[in-house]
Amino acid sequence: LPAQLVAAKPILEKINEAGFEAYFVGGCVRDMILGEELHDVDIASSAYPEEIKEIFDKTVDTGIQHGTVMVLDHGEGYEITTFRTESTYTDFRRPDSVTFVRSLSEDLKRRDFTINAFALDADGTVIDLFNGLDDLKKKQIRAVGKAKERFTEDALRMMRALRFAAKLDFSIEEATLEALAELAPNLEKIAVERIQVEFEKMLMGQAAGRSLMTMVEVGLLPYFPGKTGRIKASHLLELANYLQSAQPKNFAEVWTLYLATAGLNADELQDELRTWKLSREVMSTVNRLAPAIEKVEGLSVWDLYQINDLAETFLSVLAIIGVDESVRLSIAAQFDALPIRSAKELAVNGGALIQAGIAKPGPALGKILSDIEQAVVNGQVENEQAVLFDFAKGK
Ligand code: ATP
Ligand code: MG
Repeated sequence: LPAQLVAAKPILEKINEAGFEAYFVGGCVRDMILGEELHDVDIASSAYPEEIKEIFDKTVDTGIQHGTVMVLDHGEGYEITTFRTESTYTDFRRPDSVTFVRSLSEDLKRRDFTINAFALDADGTVIDLFNGLDDLKKKQIRAVGKAKERFTEDALRMMRALRFAAKLDFSIEEATLEALAELAPNLEKIAVERIQVEFEKMLMGQAAGRSLMTMVEVGLLPYFPGKTGRIKASHLLELANYLQSAQPKNFAEVWTLYLATAGLNADELQDELRTWKLSREVMSTVNRLAPAIEKVEGLSVWDLYQINDLAETFLSVLAIIGVDESVRLSIAAQFDALPIRSAKELAVNGGALIQAGIAKPGPALGKILSDIEQAVVNGQVENEQAVLFDFAKGK
């Protein structure tokens, strides 16, 4: 048993002692069997939330309406969710109601894929009701039950299929793939924030390229967030090709890769960024790197100075999109050679210029400071106070 599960085992035992069932479920069991690192340890139990709260001293209601209570133990928080079923999906996205049940099998049945529907008991026995172990061996993503029904209930599962296929380098089983192709239009009903989460994880996966190709093949692109036809299938296939050899490492790289290389004009890019409801930080990164990617071989020292805080993201994305190593090395060397990283590193500031009697407060001072910054960055003057005072006097 991996250390995280060993540490959490007493929680299962304590629930068992109180007369209820409890299991590790979901991704942690899958990742344990695969020998992958675990992210979060999820526990499912026949005990209702109120019952869990009676068993443990320290609990937090993190999602009690969905049946989730967090138990605090040796400085760790464990989410314990009551077995539940999700009944009647009328809008292709969220269950109309969640019903707590006492049966593990009912809970496992509502899960998306066979490899996500394992349970593991306190003795370390794996419960595999849908032949997920077989699918792990075959390296395939297969829906629990009838794929078309499952994707009709919740269209996000289509994105999740592509995400897990990319993450694990698995194929998508035939009936599941067929359902994806047939129900692709339902993706339009899904909130962009939920698609964003799965798409980001997909693009960071080892087999992201194949999932991108699948997206194109099954006809998912027209129902993807953004204006229809603006991001071309050819762009996805181009990315798929690049992603064979390297993957983006974080969200900033994901979105710079997807949007700043899509051949969009400035307005289209803004519109696309807004559609995806990206964080301000990611939006700013994409906005600042897009023009630099456009003219990668014609970047001045000043251009590089403007984006030097994003140097790592920039160079990673250039590597992924196949920009020649010689070009990238030269850009990296120019980043390293920058005399300053920001105006704060200048040996003078407005106050110093005023105190030395070289300038007076006002717009002219701003102009002098920006001239100094440019001259230092371009290597025309040294970043030393006396030198910069002389330079300023000449202005
Ligand atoms: P990760 O390691 O990326 O967190 P995970 O399998 O834990 O992978 P989560 O998105 O955290 O994935 O979901 C936890 C579990 O909840 C899944 O393993 C699956 O059993 C179930 N699940 C999550 N989302 C859905 C969904 N849309 N439909 C059905 N089951 C779902
Ligand atoms: Mg998880």
